[in-house]
Amino acid sequence: MLVSINPATGREIARYDLHDAAEVERRVARAAEAFQRFRNTPLEARRAGLSRLAEVLDDRADALGRLATDEMGKPLTQAVAEVHKCAAACRYYADHGETLLAPRPAKHLPDGARAYVVHQPLGPILAVMPWNFPFWQVVRFLAPALLLGNVGLLKHASNVTGCALALEAAVADAGFAEGVFQTLLIEAKTVAGVIADPRVAGATVTGSEGAGRSVGGAAGKALKPSVLELGGSDAFVVLDDADVEHAAAVAAKARCQNNGQSCIAAKRFIAVDAVYDAFAEALVREMEALRVGNPMDAETYIGPIARQDLRDEIADQVKRAVDEGAALLTGGTMPDRTGFFYAPTVLGDVREGTVAFDEEIFGPVASVVRATDDADAVRLANATRFGLGGSVWTRDVARGERVALQLECGSAFVNAMVASHPAVPFGGVKDSGYGRELAAEGLFAFANAKTVWVAG
Ligand code: NAP
Repeated sequence: MLVSINPATGREIARYDLHDAAEVERRVARAAEAFQRFRNTPLEARRAGLSRLAEVLDDRADALGRLATDEMGKPLTQAVAEVHKCAAACRYYADHGETLLAPRPAKHLPDGARAYVVHQPLGPILAVMPWNFPFWQVVRFLAPALLLGNVGLLKHASNVTGCALALEAAVADAGFAEGVFQTLLIEAKTVAGVIADPRVAGATVTGSEGAGRSVGGAAGKALKPSVLELGGSDAFVVLDDADVEHAAAVAAKARCQNNGQSCIAAKRFIAVDAVYDAFAEALVREMEALRVGNPMDAETYIGPIARQDLRDEIADQVKRAVDEGAALLTGGTMPDRTGFFYAPTVLGDVREGTVAFDEEIFGPVASVVRATDDADAVRLANATRFGLGGSVWTRDVARGERVALQLECGSAFVNAMVASHPAVPFGGVKDSGYGRELAAEGLFAFANAKTVWVAG
């Protein structure tokens, strides 16, 4: 049984029966059959399908947004924006699909030879997805998969089944054939068996390291490609010439967007000595100004944490951080109201080797770290096993780029918070995973890059 609970009220919304082994078999068989037809549909038809899907998502943005807010607690304004972002990704692949998939002539060949590379689909891909962006995480896998001609099987997080089914319906309503995108209502323990099925061609997971190890391990065992999009502990590096007030205003949002539950949220705020105090003070002010409340309310910036156990884990991490010597500059409490809320929190004087530096805190908790200079800031930014994103704040853009290039992460931003966009690849290094989503890299994650060589 899968149960959806509204984290703002603690009340159950719906429950769903799990698919039994026979139903999983039916769906995998349907995916394999659908692939044989879908791979041969003209690219034009797949692009048109993505354009229609973009329209369906835009039309349903409000209803889908409400569903996400009900199931996982993000503010409605952010949930609706997420659905529109999904539509934009579908449009990106529809609009640029022909260019992205154009055969690529090979260079530097022997005289007289001609060769080119085409990208062809592999088959049904299993996507294991998290609840934090219940539509975006799925669509950023699905849109390029559909453009290429792969078909998708989704195992969504067990608390957002309503979102999974609503997305399945949207894809069908956009005119994609039966079997092209299906949800499997299964538990995590069933995932490895699906990956091992010879009809399944690959697996992608967005989630925790544990899920990554398990899905990556199962794919490796079955000799299938995988993409792992895992946790992060992004550094937000504030150099001595930064506009500190502006940086702090963005910092609060970069930390607390999506109720602080984003893999690419800034988590460690590394400020050099000269601006450390001013930045910490401004950040506290900005965090205290963020409105916590009913996520359906348009004024709310921070809603509840998605599940009670996750909220309790944040409280435990903050307690351990303070025990280890971090200064509690604001927050550190559970607001006295129904639902799984946690107050925006700032921890100061956070040191390497402590919870607030080493662990990913998946909620509205900022760790502020002191660096002596640029080189020390880079050293601290990289002193983590994660490597998803990072940002640098400075009035000197060239200096910012120099620092950005030294960050060990998949996306480094200068004077902007880390974000994903369909035109640029997204993913991590180190324990944040491997492989990329979005842009051409995401399109080719599950592709046969086939060489065609024609003798001269
Ligand atoms: P999670 O507990 O790992 O769940 C993610 C998905 O993996 C769910 O569908 C879950 O199913 C499934 N799962 C969990 N353990 C599994 C296992 N051993 N084998 C197969 N499947 C398994 O993660 P979460 O708490 O939902 O999400 C938060 C984490 O995701 C954070 O670490 C965050 O940084 C990361 N994240 C990364 C990115 C990125 O792009 N890199 C984006 C968003 C989030 P059940 O729900 O049934 O357990």
